[in-house]
Amino acid sequence: MHPTALPIPAQPAAAWQGVDFDAGLLQRLGKSGPRYTSYPTADRFDEGFGYRDYLHAVAGLRTRGAARPLSLYLHIPFCDTVCYYCACNKVVTKNREKAATYLAYLKREIAMQAALLSNSSEVEQLHFGGGTPTYLSDAQMEELMAHLRRNFRFAPDAAGEYSIEVDPRTVSPERVHTLRAQGFNRISLGVQDFDPDVQRAVNRVQPESETRAVIDAARAAGFRSISIDLIYGLPKQTLDTMRETLDKVVAANPDRIAVYHYAHMPRLFKPQRRIIETEMPDSDTKLRMLQLCIERLGAAGYVYIGMDHFAKPDDDLAVAQRQGRLHRNFQGYSTHADTDLVACGVSAIGAVGATYSQNVKTLDEYYDLLDQNELPVARGWRLGMDDALRRSLIQKLMCQFEVSIPALEQAFPIVFRDYFAPEVARLRQMEDDGLLTIGEEWLTVSMKGRLLIRNICMVFDRYLAIQPDAPRHSQTV
Ligand code: SF4
Repeated sequence: MHPTALPIPAQPAAAWQGVDFDAGLLQRLGKSGPRYTSYPTADRFDEGFGYRDYLHAVAGLRTRGAARPLSLYLHIPFCDTVCYYCACNKVVTKNREKAATYLAYLKREIAMQAALLSNSSEVEQLHFGGGTPTYLSDAQMEELMAHLRRNFRFAPDAAGEYSIEVDPRTVSPERVHTLRAQGFNRISLGVQDFDPDVQRAVNRVQPESETRAVIDAARAAGFRSISIDLIYGLPKQTLDTMRETLDKVVAANPDRIAVYHYAHMPRLFKPQRRIIETEMPDSDTKLRMLQLCIERLGAAGYVYIGMDHFAKPDDDLAVAQRQGRLHRNFQGYSTHADTDLVACGVSAIGAVGATYSQNVKTLDEYYDLLDQNELPVARGWRLGMDDALRRSLIQKLMCQFEVSIPALEQAFPIVFRDYFAPEVARLRQMEDDGLLTIGEEWLTVSMKGRLLIRNICMVFDRYLAIQPDAPRHSQTV
């Protein structure tokens, strides 16, 4: 135990806007596990799946007839400097020429994807992630958005969800207005922590005034949703710094807040080796930080959506959850369920038809394959019936915290209690712990079970049973 840590006192579970915090249960059951942005999870994808398999999946969409709307993901991998906690696929460079080369290839990939898909379907969702999407200059972004519009049909601004991840250190208020004019209507800001000592400890110094100016500009520019990302578990963080950061975030009044648990895996992620481990809060303090986040955001009127996400009750995510329309994909929670996700850029992951496909991870491989006129698919997965069934079940659990057993039996040729007999037996222990109930018609996660939703989903993950989890996933709480 960390020398400054105090044991968490036994206390009854406290309910805050959709979730109960039960420290004892979380301490006992927290373990490492997938975040289920896909099922099977990306670490199970197969290198035997390549470009031609992807073409097959697209051909399958055509023969299936009714076209689904499209969701586009674009990965911009560049960053100016490295944040020590980073676990993303990125290229840290100050050489802007690299972005120009990348943009040329990215446009080529977009055109190839559009030739396959754009005739039938409209884009309802666009997400720019990274790296740092705003590493691109205004002019480069303009050129890229124009290229996208030449190649795809986009739903009107009022109907589409067009979002971009913004590092407030890289944009001025004027740039925020330009991004809105370029077509983005949602913005997500990486903040992590407002405390200057914490910021220095992770090499991401970002004055609060700069962040506030970006938020104010986003509001003035008419962005429909402003989201802030925080991280708990960083070096130099204490309950007091966390409290102050939360107060500042609540005062900034974003529509959505994501509070991620810092997963320290220095063997997997090199930048994390620069984090001084003795400066990190211990697991008891981290749990208290999570409790603080839940209580503070709940008291400020935010609803717990699931995993690490909170939203105002009138935000689209909260509305979609109440209406049973919430969906989860590689970018987290989403309101657009029935789309095919086309992903462009190095390491990007798409989900088309009953397949997943991931692009190669290095710039050289990416450029080489595009030079050969091939989509740069490195690996992927074709879902069988069992995968599709478990994906559907895990989606429901992650997004709605409940599953209708008759609905599942109607959609798939199974009898739930027979097919999932071993899983149901394992869930009984969780039922005894008060995490869920299994009735005749519904599997329902309790308020107490919501923070342990990954543990519940893991019971249904067939691949974890075949090959138990290596230390490649973060802690579930
Ligand atoms: S956290 Fe974001 S900005 Fe920082 S190095 Fe990683 S990708 Fe770049």
